[in-house]
Amino acid sequence: MMDAQGPVVSVIHKRTHQRLEPNLVDYERTVAEFDWTKAARLLDGLPGGAGLNVAYEAVDRHLNHGRGDRTALRWLGREGQRREFSYTDLARVTNQFANALEGLNVAAGERVFVLLGRLPELYVAVLGALKARCVVTPLFSAFGPEPIATRAEIGDARVLVTTPELYKRKVQGLRPRLPGLRHVILVGQAQQDEPGVSAWSELVDTASPEYTIAPTDPETMSLLHFTSGTTGRPKGAMHVHAAVLAHLVTGRYALDLHDDDVFWCTADPGWVTGTSYGIIAPLVCGVTNVVLEAEFDAQTWYGILERERVNVWYTAPTAIRMMMKLGAEAVKGFDLSALRFMASVGEPLNPEAVVWGQEAFGMPIHDNWWQTETGGIMISNFAALDIKPGSMGRPLPGIGAAIVERDGADLRFIAEPMVDGELALKTPWPSMMRGYLHEDERYRKCFVDGWYLTGDLARRDADGYYWFVGRADDVIKSSGHLIGPFEVESALMEHPAVAEAGVIGIPDAMAGEVVKAFVALKPGREPDEALRRELLGHARQRLGAAVAPKQIEFRSNLPKTRSGKIMRRLLKARELGLPEGDLSTLESDEK
Ligand code: AMP
Repeated sequence: MMDAQGPVVSVIHKRTHQRLEPNLVDYERTVAEFDWTKAARLLDGLPGGAGLNVAYEAVDRHLNHGRGDRTALRWLGREGQRREFSYTDLARVTNQFANALEGLNVAAGERVFVLLGRLPELYVAVLGALKARCVVTPLFSAFGPEPIATRAEIGDARVLVTTPELYKRKVQGLRPRLPGLRHVILVGQAQQDEPGVSAWSELVDTASPEYTIAPTDPETMSLLHFTSGTTGRPKGAMHVHAAVLAHLVTGRYALDLHDDDVFWCTADPGWVTGTSYGIIAPLVCGVTNVVLEAEFDAQTWYGILERERVNVWYTAPTAIRMMMKLGAEAVKGFDLSALRFMASVGEPLNPEAVVWGQEAFGMPIHDNWWQTETGGIMISNFAALDIKPGSMGRPLPGIGAAIVERDGADLRFIAEPMVDGELALKTPWPSMMRGYLHEDERYRKCFVDGWYLTGDLARRDADGYYWFVGRADDVIKSSGHLIGPFEVESALMEHPAVAEAGVIGIPDAMAGEVVKAFVALKPGREPDEALRRELLGHARQRLGAAVAPKQIEFRSNLPKTRSGKIMRRLLKARELGLPEGDLSTLESDEK
């Protein structure tokens, strides 16, 4: 059932007796009074008015406020190892990394790519490179060689920080494609005699721990995050140092981080959430940031929440669904009395999951929404507001949101509640992307009349809560990872048997969506089981398990428009038994 207030499900009322007063208590008043310029006073800026640098705000600033001894990073290794870095320790090791880059003559503005599992060195490299005013691109360590090569080519990677194993398996063979990649820094047992390849232990551990960050204009590029569109190669969304203000404000308001909190974000820094909220926001807020090297395992996770006395937990729907499958009982044996606030992002969070949070953890899960391009959380369920399970919440103070419809070069604003349209955000805000690298046209197309169009379809109810409806384009969200169908199709097309490929996402109870490919073969090739397996293996090898299709189906022909574009929309409608919609542009068909 649906009315102007949204689907009729029971609202979870705000908790009036919270152990700690939320940072944002009066939403309406804060929204009315909020001003980004005033909020900027919460940051220190570089000493002597030398600008603004993310790494300074995240690390060194706390030393000046007498919080240097506080634990910044608590790393929990796969084999039960434990390493802690105070803010003072982190300042020193990130200085060492910045010095190591300078020792290699890596200049400000050059790109440092990081391809690592969740190791302490990942965090040190990201922050150290930001100190050196290099541009950082974290890559997902489960990517196969192709996504790595494409991103390193587009982003002109100058330095790569990785492990010997990942280097050998995924990067070494790509070196001829990456002539601009001058330095590889290997973490771990590295025996290197290749020119341009050095060991972290020799390069970084021996560097000076003293470093002064050079003046940094807040508009200097800081992070280059790759994301996917429907067509073409991945897009490099450019972010700047000024974005750190949004990380501070969202850390405090949306995640309700308080000074003495222990915080855990389960996302991998190879994706934007893992960088913005797994590295920057918690450190800027000065809390203790827990990092778990291992992958998901419900019992291990509950054990960490208990042992580390985690106060604020930021996770994702796929993980929550996997926990739900094991039942609320599995949580009961653990002492989670420290846990105060739970949040989720990345894909739609089922209303049942929000309610399950209540049952299992004694508190609801707060869904929030953002994307690579927005740089930080934009819409959120706040600690001090009622939750409508299934809704993404309300806009962050300082963020204007609307539901719109593109009308040629104009925008039509949809004022009626619960009517579908595209989610749009009023520009500017500090963490907004400043461009897609080398793709001005693609970037410009995202904006109309001073509004950024997100590519997501949503609704707003009469109380101002936003509800996710779906994507306006063909990108796929699988286990929270955004996958561009074109990248998958291109990898399949490299196989000599493939004539054409069309890739879609199909619903999956755990992962949200999984990637499915439809493939038409070249003449003379038989669509048998052996070839299907070979193609699955080929795609997995090229793209890595996180991106490769889970299913492949052969077709003698794929539906195409008159201009020859494969109609993924139609493939999907047929796969799911949905209405086929407007077929006026259909030229050739699979049937
Ligand atoms: P990414 O840029 O990889 O972070 O993916 C961003 C996309 O993930 C958004 O444009 C949405 O399509 C989806 N997304 C993120 N958060 C949510 C949410 N809370 N509910 C539904 N979809 C979400």
